[in-house]
Amino acid sequence: MQLRQIAVWVGALVLPVLLFAMGSFAQKTPTTKSDVGTGEKYTGKKIVKSEAEWRKTLTPDQFYVLRDAGTERAFTGKYWHNMDHGTYYCAACGLELFTSDTKFDSGTGWPSFFKPAVQANVTLLTDPDGQRVEVRCSRCGGHLGHVFDDGPQPTGKRYCMNSVSLDFKKAVKPSKTDKKPAGK
Ligand SMILES: [Zn+2]
Repeated sequence: MQLRQIAVWVGALVLPVLLFAMGSFAQKTPTTKSDVGTGEKYTGKKIVKSEAEWRKTLTPDQFYVLRDAGTERAFTGKYWHNMDHGTYYCAACGLELFTSDTKFDSGTGWPSFFKPAVQANVTLLTDPDGQRVEVRCSRCGGHLGHVFDDGPQPTGKRYCMNSVSLDFKKAVKPSKTDKKPAGK
């Protein structure tokens, strides 16, 4: 009888402590929400330019990939090994395409992501031979690369991009003097 009473008392004391600990643990768990990119969604208004106009604004390498659907040589681009924190925009029109928190080392020599910043910002087209799925910028139609089904979780996708199609902007970290005011 006495043992049971002790057990009840211990339970009554331990349980709230346990729940409190679990609650504070949950608060400390990092959120999955991205702190890079704006999540700006493609509005549906396309950018249409002639070949001559694109040649004026793009470098020859950019034109070859973005407008002629070429592929840069593996391990030659500027972003395959870039692990900086920030956002990748379309090099042709500036639409937000990928964020660094979905980038992974695929070992292919091309910048690889498991999902776009905003799904609507990329358009997927099956190649004429049905072998691969091409990824284009939804706004300007620029060729970005291809998407494969051998990527990591949570999506299992590998967006294999050309560095030359992307324009990376490093995230600006708040400086130490830039502290938030006390309280909430
Ligand atoms: Zn674009």
